[in-house]
Amino acid sequence: MALHLHNTLTRQTEPFEALEPGRVTMYTCGPTVWNYAHIGNFRTFLFEDLLRRYLEHRGNEVFHIMNLTDVDDRTIAAAAGAGKSLQDHTAPFIQAFFDDCEYLRIRPAHVYPRATQHVDSMIELVASLMDRGLAYRSDDGSVYFAVDRFETYGRLSQVEKRELKVGSRVASDEYAKEDARDFALWKAVSPDDEAVGAAWDAPFGRGRPGWHLECSAIALSHIKERYGVETLDIHAGGIDLIFPHHENEIAQSEGATGKQFVRCWLHGEFLTIGGTKMSKRFGNILTARDLKEEGVDAAAVRMLCFSTHYRQQLSFTDDALESAGEGVGRLGEFRRRLIEASGASSSEAVDPPPEASELRAEFEAAMDEDLNAPRALAAVFSFVRAANRRLDASGWTAAAAAEALSALDRAMEVLDILPTSVDVKAELRDWVEERIAARQAAREAGDYACADQIRDELTEKGIELEDTPQGTRWKVRGD
Ligand SMILES: [Zn+2]
Repeated sequence: MALHLHNTLTRQTEPFEALEPGRVTMYTCGPTVWNYAHIGNFRTFLFEDLLRRYLEHRGNEVFHIMNLTDVDDRTIAAAAGAGKSLQDHTAPFIQAFFDDCEYLRIRPAHVYPRATQHVDSMIELVASLMDRGLAYRSDDGSVYFAVDRFETYGRLSQVEKRELKVGSRVASDEYAKEDARDFALWKAVSPDDEAVGAAWDAPFGRGRPGWHLECSAIALSHIKERYGVETLDIHAGGIDLIFPHHENEIAQSEGATGKQFVRCWLHGEFLTIGGTKMSKRFGNILTARDLKEEGVDAAAVRMLCFSTHYRQQLSFTDDALESAGEGVGRLGEFRRRLIEASGASSSEAVDPPPEASELRAEFEAAMDEDLNAPRALAAVFSFVRAANRRLDASGWTAAAAAEALSALDRAMEVLDILPTSVDVKAELRDWVEERIAARQAAREAGDYACADQIRDELTEKGIELEDTPQGTRWKVRGD
């Protein structure tokens, strides 16, 4: 079966086809680095991580772009409030974002362009929209996109159908626009902008880019430079970005290139805490670092997020987090058991046991169905139960257990929900095996003093060795 994804543009779950088969360009809207990203933001980034990993699992070469919004109303206000330059204010939050992504095991994007580093391409885009008559400079010195001159405006969000809220928010710029729906591409400079270093010269006046502009300019310049194309295969983000952000991205991009901007749009649902969308207003903000400081295993956070389909609201509760923690603990135990059972396995090829083949097939069938991670998780845990029964009954040879282990690991490459402690054990194992090989080499070279020294080193770390005719075996003392 082919991978099917739900495309917001068509409101259909359809077979995913890249412009160039086997190569996927993927753009995801990144964080606004005025503050720490919260766990609601990270639910979106984790859904995108799942998407990216599964595309790669299926053999695609993915080029993933994620922007960092380091200039917008909030970053400027926060920098001005702190009496810092934009750059000084955002730098620690950019670092914090990378740290949080690492904690949550999010596979890094290939590029993280910052808005402030792409102002030139944004200026070019505005100029080209003005040349094409789709944008105008207003009396207030700002440049606006003329929505009524772009025929397909509203196609993504089906905004006509929900009736555009006009006049609900009358800011000063509302008077400068020809049409209330028009949005700012370029904002005329203000004293705060100058104070924090958020002002650039442009042919249409000194100012700074509007927020929507950066994603179009960054996405287009990167895929054009790398592949000579102006169409993204995938653009993903949170559901709250559909309107106006993504609608405006389409207008800006397609208005300038005349080509389809994105083939497949994916949107992740909200995360709620206590049944309420997380927001400053409700005072229920939880950041990734809060979880890290509380000693929560990232594997449990990932598992909790993947237990609900990305297009369903996820309720983040302590209970759910705890049971996800128990789930990843069971997986870790199980994997250790498989490692032990496959320990003496030679590299001879055997047919995988039916349980392992079933896991592979069911995992992919689930993920092909619009990234149905809850179903994929169910497949993993039913495999754990079936395999444990087999191991209890000593029904598997070492080679069969090795096949089962490799099927599990293949699924884990995508989900990445093994507990952190297992990784520590894997590191220990690698180290012990490296030391045993070094000891063996020393003995073969007749350097028994060195071999004994390595043995002592291992003993000190609680590792016991046993030399057998089949080679050296080891175990952790007391295990
Ligand atoms: Zn964006």
